[in-house]
Amino acid sequence: MTTRDRSDACPGAVQTHRAADGQLARVRVPGGLLSAAQVQVLAGSAVELADGALELTSRGNLQLRGLAPDAPAELARRLFGAGLLPSEAHETARNVVASVLSGRSGGLLDVRPLVRAFDAGLVADPALAELPGRFLVTVDDGRGDVTGLGGDVGLHAVAADAVALTLAGTDSGLRAAPADAHTLALDAARAFLAERTAQGSQAWRLAELTDGVGAVAVRLAGHPVPGDRPAPGTGPVVGATEQVDGLVALVGLVPLGRLTAPALDVLVQVTAALGSEIQVTPWRSVVVPDLPDEFVDDVATALHHAGLVFDAASPWAQVTACAGLPGCAKSRADVRADAAHAVATGTLPVAGPQHWAGCERRCGRPAGSTDVLAVEDGYRIGAG
Ligand code: SF4
Repeated sequence: MTTRDRSDACPGAVQTHRAADGQLARVRVPGGLLSAAQVQVLAGSAVELADGALELTSRGNLQLRGLAPDAPAELARRLFGAGLLPSEAHETARNVVASVLSGRSGGLLDVRPLVRAFDAGLVADPALAELPGRFLVTVDDGRGDVTGLGGDVGLHAVAADAVALTLAGTDSGLRAAPADAHTLALDAARAFLAERTAQGSQAWRLAELTDGVGAVAVRLAGHPVPGDRPAPGTGPVVGATEQVDGLVALVGLVPLGRLTAPALDVLVQVTAALGSEIQVTPWRSVVVPDLPDEFVDDVATALHHAGLVFDAASPWAQVTACAGLPGCAKSRADVRADAAHAVATGTLPVAGPQHWAGCERRCGRPAGSTDVLAVEDGYRIGAG
C-alpha cells in the first residue's frame, strides 16, 4: 500500500497552480472532444489571457500557462459559458480518456455516448467530487488504445454489445451492456471512495489501496481475473484516415504538446466553417475529423505551416518534454528549447521515444521513454 499524507494538488481551471511563469490552469476535456464553439473559447482565452498557446497533457487535457493573477476568474467565466466547467466542485475529478476516432473509424463500439453519460453522472453526484485529481477513467472501444494507460477504472468493449470493467488494469470479471456501462463505472468510482474511507487512506490511485483491485471488486460483486496488463497504446496513426462515413480525419502531431496561436487560428477557422469538432489525444496529437475529401490537403497544409507534423517518421514523433524553464522553477534547463534545437539540428541524443525533463520528477513522462534528464553540466541519458 502506498501511504499518502495529503490530498493530491492537481491543478484545475479554478484551482490554478502558481508556476514560475504565472498561474497555470488545467481544463478537463472528457474524451478529448471539443466543439467548434469550445475551440474558439479556448483559443481566445489562450491568446487573450495566457501565453498564447494551449498545452496538451498526457491525459488528453489542456493547460493554459502564464495567466495573470486576475485572469483565472475571467477564464472560469468563459469556460463555464462554453460548457467546459459544468461543476466547479468536480473540476479536477473529470479525468476521462477515450478511444481516439471512436464512432468514426475502427473499434467495436462508439463510446462517445458512454463518455458523455459517465461525465454527466459524475458531476451529478456531489460525493464523486472527492475523487482525487490523479484518478483516471479510461473508455476503450475495443481497439486497445487507452486501456493500457493505467486507468483506475476502465471500460473496455469486448463486443458490440458487451463492455468489461477493469480496475487498475485488471479485468474485474464484470460486464455490462453499452447502455449501462457508465453506471457500472460510476459505481466503481464510488466503491473506490468507500474502500479508501474504510482503509483510513488518502490514496490517489486505486492500486495504492491494500488489495485495491480485490477490495473494490468485492464491493461490486465482481471476481477479478488476473492477467497481463495491457500495453500502453500508441495513439492514432499520423496523417489522413478515412472514416466509415467516407469523410476524412486528419491526425497531426503537436510538437512538445504546444498548440500555438497560428495552429489555434487554423483550428478555429476549420471547425467554424464546417461546424465540426476536434479531438485532443493523450499522445499529444490533435484530430480534425469529418473533413470532406476536397478540403483535406488545404487543411493539412495550413496546419503544417502552423507547426503541426503529419509525418510519422518525423523526429518530433519521438520527443516529449516537461515544462522546464522558464515555466518551472525546479528545472535546470530550458528543456523544450534544447529539445527543439536537437530536432532542428538532427542531434537528438538517442533513437526512439525520449522524454526531456528538467529535474528528477520527469513530469509527463510517457511509459517506455528514455530519460534525457537535465543535470548541472548538461544532460544525462537514460538516468534511473
Ligand atoms: S520534471 Fe521537474 S523541471 Fe520538469 S516540470 Fe516537472 S518539476 Fe518542473
